[in-house]
Amino acid sequence: MSIAANLDQVRSVLPEGVRLLAVSKFHPVEALREAYDAGQRLFGESRVQELTEKQALLPKDIEWHFIGHLQTNKIKYIVPFVHLIHGIDSFRLLAEVHKYAARAGRVVPCLLQLHVAREETKFGFSISECRSMLEEGEWKSLRNVQIAGLMAMASHVEDPHQISTEFRTVSDFFREIKTSHFAGDPAFCELSMGMSHDFPHAVEQGSTLIRVGTMIFGDR
Ligand SMILES: *Cc1c(COP(=O)(O)O)cnc(C)c1O
Repeated sequence: MSIAANLDQVRSVLPEGVRLLAVSKFHPVEALREAYDAGQRLFGESRVQELTEKQALLPKDIEWHFIGHLQTNKIKYIVPFVHLIHGIDSFRLLAEVHKYAARAGRVVPCLLQLHVAREETKFGFSISECRSMLEEGEWKSLRNVQIAGLMAMASHVEDPHQISTEFRTVSDFFREIKTSHFAGDPAFCELSMGMSHDFPHAVEQGSTLIRVGTMIFGDR
């Protein structure tokens, strides 16, 4: 199937209010252009150099999202244009993004990444670490970052119950902190959950932004 047909297929099952981020990492610019021509405007990349190279070559109305593990020495390359950074996994990283965003004269939207999956190697705050960080309150002084929501990955398993439980844990926590720390802050609104193999479960649990690569572009 073509990229356009794949996009149609994913879009056709998405409820209103759930947006599709096309994860284009490791795919050539031509593949992104094909998706662009089929109306796709949100693209996600996981490596800074690849993101900046593609951004330079493609139309300027694309929303570029960074979904990988961000090294502090590379923040400066994406801060001028990035639309949303999904993988903030420490206060220190948030503070670093703030520093470069201030220099660039921007407020950069960021998602706090939660670790809820069983895999041990994945990045992210535990729920209790994230809660402590928010209670501590220092993040409120970081005026050049906007905490816009949460991002998470579920365990890479077949068991739909396990996957749904993990996504539900994240969306329960999202509601908790929306009340406790972001009440009256409409910019805290994104729940980035769901990939090619599990996005229907994520959508059921309240995802607002799914990150789909393989189902659109094929294997990497
Ligand atoms: C690669 C990646 C995706 C897309 O995964 P697919 O299985 O190809 O849909 C989503 N989120 C993150 C964080 C990724 O690194």
